[in-house]
Formats: sequence, C-alpha cells, structure tokens
Amino acid sequence: MVLRLSTLFLRTLREDPAEAEVASHRLLVRAGYIRRAAPGIYSWLPLGLKVLGRVETIIREEMAAIGAQEVHFPALLPKEPYEVTNRWTEYGDGIFRLQDRKGADYLLAPTHEEMFTLLVKDLYNSYKDLPVSLYQIQNKYRDEARPRAGLLRGREFIMKDSYSFDIDDAGLERSYQLHRKAYLRIFERLGLEVIPVTATSGAMGGSKSEEFLHPTDIGEDTFVRSAGGYTANVEAVTTVVPPELDYSGAPAAEVLDTPDTPTIETLVNSANANAPREGEPWTAADTLKNVVLAAVLPTGGREIFVVGVPGDRTVDLKRMEATIGSHLEVGGEVAVEAATDEDLKKHPGLVKGYIGPGLSLGEPVIGLEGSTGLRYLVDPRIVSGTTWITGANQHGKHVFGLVAGRDFAWDGVIEAVEVREGDEAPDGSGPLQAARGIEMGHIFQLGRLYTEALGLKVLDANGKLATVTMGSYGVGVTRAVAALAEANHDDKGIIWPRNVAPADVHIVATGKGEEIFAAAEKLAGDLEAAGFDVMYDDRPKVSPGVKFGDAELIGVPTIVVVGRGLADGVIEVKDRRTGEAASVAVDEALEHLRTLLNG
Ligand code: ATP
Ligand code: MG
Repeated sequence: MVLRLSTLFLRTLREDPAEAEVASHRLLVRAGYIRRAAPGIYSWLPLGLKVLGRVETIIREEMAAIGAQEVHFPALLPKEPYEVTNRWTEYGDGIFRLQDRKGADYLLAPTHEEMFTLLVKDLYNSYKDLPVSLYQIQNKYRDEARPRAGLLRGREFIMKDSYSFDIDDAGLERSYQLHRKAYLRIFERLGLEVIPVTATSGAMGGSKSEEFLHPTDIGEDTFVRSAGGYTANVEAVTTVVPPELDYSGAPAAEVLDTPDTPTIETLVNSANANAPREGEPWTAADTLKNVVLAAVLPTGGREIFVVGVPGDRTVDLKRMEATIGSHLEVGGEVAVEAATDEDLKKHPGLVKGYIGPGLSLGEPVIGLEGSTGLRYLVDPRIVSGTTWITGANQHGKHVFGLVAGRDFAWDGVIEAVEVREGDEAPDGSGPLQAARGIEMGHIFQLGRLYTEALGLKVLDANGKLATVTMGSYGVGVTRAVAALAEANHDDKGIIWPRNVAPADVHIVATGKGEEIFAAAEKLAGDLEAAGFDVMYDDRPKVSPGVKFGDAELIGVPTIVVVGRGLADGVIEVKDRRTGEAASVAVDEALEHLRTLLNG
C-alpha cells in the first residue's frame, strides 16, 4: 500500500500541545497520530490507526498461538452483573454510569470479568468443554482520577483482555503460564522491554498475579529488584521479619516525662539528653510511631485505625491499601488516608504527638482497646520481644522499654511502611534497588471469585457440579502505542521500531524535475508490489526542509530520498535512528531495500 502525503489526512504541527507532559504525548499529537477530544479521551487519525493496527495484529497472532479465541462484547453494559459481584459499588467514582430512557442503570465497562463468566455459563456445562480462553480487543472506560500523559493513562482506552476457564487449579496454572509466555512474546515482538514483577491483585481479589512493567523514569509504578533476580511491585514486597526475641530478662517499662516532644526527632533528642542509653545513642529506629489513619470504604464509610511502625520509617498508604481490605473484612478498593482533625476530635483518647499502644504495663492489651477502642495494626518489624520508646497516651509523656508481646499486643500485622533501597529482598537474593515503570500488562489467577458469585458451574468427571476456576489477563493496547513512542524518540520526533511503524519505508521526493517524481513513484510502486507498506511524500511545492522535518517527526525507520543525486543515478537511504545515509544506485534500490527491510 502507498500512503501519499499529498492526499493523506495529516497536518503535522510545529507547536507542542499545551497540556502535554511527556514526549510521547507531544510527538504523537504533533506528528498527526492522535488528537485530544477531552481530558484522557483521544481521536485516532489515519497514521495512528496504522500503528494501532500493527500492535493489535501482533497481539492477535500471539493470542491465536496459545489457542485463545476472539470475541467482542459491548462497552455499554447493564448494571446487574456488576451488582452481583459487588463491583457496581466497589468501583466507586472509578466508572462511568448512565441511565437509559426508562431510568435503568448502565455502565461503560472498565473491564469484563462478569460478562465473560456469564457467556461461558450460558453456553457450557461440562468439564469436557474446558479449558477455554476467550479474549477481546475493546474500548474500556475508567473515570481515572488523574488522566495523564496522553494515551498512557486515558479515560477511554483500548485493552486486550482475555479470560481463561478451567476445571481445576492445575488447569488454571497452565492457562496462566501460557498467557505469561504469550505476553513475553508480544512485548518482544513490539520491541518494548518489560519486566514481569510480582504484584498484589488489588480490587480484583484472587491469588497469583504479575505485572509486566516497562522500565522508564516517567512511569507511575515503583518497583524493586535485587541483584539476585527478585522483582516486585512495591505494593507486593513483603518485609523480611526479624526473629522474635526472648524478653524474660527485660526490665519493666517506665513512663518518663518528655515535655515538648511531639515529633520523633524531638523525642530522640530528649531521650538522649535525659535518659541516655549506655553504649549507643537512641535513634529514630528505637521509637514506635503510632499513626492515625482513615480507611475510606467503597460504600463511602470511614473507619479510623492506628498503625504502629518503627520511627525511622514513613507509612506508605498505597502499600497499606493493597491489604487493608482483608483486615477490615471488606471487598473492593479501600483507600487509606491520613486522619483529619475532625476524625481525631471524635476520639479524644488519642493524644496527638503522644499516642501509644493501649497501656497496661506488665499485661498485654489488645491494640488501643481500653484507651480508644480503635483497631491497632503494626508493621511486621514489630515482633514479640522487641523493645520500644513510644507514646504514653498522655501529653508530654513517653514510655521507655515497652516490650512487644509483653506490654502490648495488636489486632493484625500489615505492610505499612515504604520499601527502601537497601532493604533485603524477601527471597534472600540481596538488597533491593528501586526503579520506575509503566504497567503494560497484568495477569491474574482470579480463582473462583467471579465464577462463584455468578454461579458458573459445570459437571466434573464424576458427574458432580464443580465451580470453574478463572484467570484474567490484560494488555494496554493504546498505552503500548504511547510507551513505544516514549521509548523510541529523539528531539526531532518518533523513531518507530520496524514492527509497528506506520509504514516500512518513507520515500521523500525533493526537487522540481519531473524525472524525480517519476523515479520516486516507480520505486514506491515496486516496493508496494514487493509487499511493503510505503509512505510517499509526493507533495509538490513543499520544501525539502519541511519534508525532511516531517519524515523525522513521523518516524518511519527507513527514509529514502529521491532528489539531486538522481542526476548521477543514485538515491539516498537513511536510517532514522542513526542518521546514517547510504547512496544506492537507482536500479539497485529495490533489492537493497528488500534486503534491508527483511533483515
Ligand atoms: P494502572 O495501575 O496503570 O491503573 P490497572 O492495574 O488499573 O493499571 P488493569 O485493570 O490490570 O490495570 O488493566 C490491564 C491493562 O490495561 C494495564 O496493564 C494497562 O496496560 C492498561 N490500562 C489500565 N488503565 C489504563 C488507562 N487508564 N489508560 C490506558 N491503559 C490502561
Ligand atoms: Mg488503574
């Protein structure tokens, strides 16, 4: 196919779009791939659709290779299935809801677990029908709190989502591993580096889950890796728990006056000045900091709780969000935020700056019960036998030598603090290093969460009804286009990897002579006949400078210049990435390009 720039619906722009924060967004708009319609919502222009199509083709081929079959659901869905799984409520503000003329509720689907489950339930009833994997490439809608970076976080975006259905856990593991391999192949063919990292499954529930992160400084996800090969999303990192200590010889705790010590720093200074420790000075790590937080439930409710963490660590709300739901025994996304003054007022037992676990020295007391009745969770480093300086629940007083498990207890253990560079990897493979990435894909072993809720049962080999087990697997298709542009650009424009470029060759005809356009036209035709996609800048009366500038902006990796050299029987073949140009005899051009493009 030949795309002629004289007729192609395209206007390249000199100016960056005002709202663009990252290079891919800027360049995709300027080079005429996409246009913004509303925040986080984009229109696709002819060039954009070419790239999108190539990305989708690679995904379809790899899905077919693992036997997954394509279907297509509507994006506009009735509320009922999402009510059964409770996600109508749990999604909170995250979804777009609407009503039809009769007042019935609908949503624009953010993901399709419910519909796939119901489809399989509709048509299949025996273990002999399984396993089956179905997928679609379809628009998703999420009312993201912060749509950003163009296609990277949209409110309408394209996802490839697949779902596997198996009769047993071993089958689910097989389906999961097939998808995992397919994903690695997809990203390899796209030319996009990804690292599979262990993840938590968040609102989806279920057990095993991995994210495919593309490492880049503009990524919103922080992940960690160790030299020994451990990789995980920070939300999924588990703390290496220190051993419990024998406290039988530990001296009794004592309450000391520590006026004006509402912060860890003032407390440590005061402790070193007034109650110095022999051998080594007190540090923040010797203190137990108690932080009052609010869990915002999917129903809109608010539960105040307290976490105890070592004073040298900061609480990480996102890490807590990954598991707080299970502590509170509520499903769906629970947000965690700092308690407000209003929250604190409702609990006068909490003495700001001097909060400690429920104090009844010599006797363990569960959490803060007795003083406030609030749920008390601790960081995994607070193990039995560890000794702390902490608030005495009285203004200007702290307790020294408070022993965990002897003097206080807790309602639960939660990953509550930030993961730091240098922390040990949970698998013993060395200290962790932090990096940033964009989530390109996510695979989950959902298990029976949705099939149970929606009643997807089939007859097993013994003729008994068994609940089907399920996996769910997503790839951000439009996000992949943006990530590819982000990973492959320079100050002049995009430099597409060959597999996804909008064309295989970009021919630029420069000059006025008719013979130039005739030669370029012939080369375009020959390449087309040889099976290549050709972009041909056949615009008359456009300066060479503008044409070159557009070619560099658009980013086809091979640029052929038919111009002045033609008088000497040569054309120029330029590599967009290196800028290197080679002179090639006109009559050898087709062969030369054939070798280059197929190589
Ligand atoms: P994120 O943490 O980035 O919001 P997610 O965990 O919500 O992603 P999933 O629900 O697992 O994502 O969706 C599957 C894939 O869809 C993601 O891996 C990502 O590539 C893509 N995706 C998710 N949200 C968006 C979005 N707002 N815009 C573009 N792509 C998205
Ligand atoms: Mg999301």
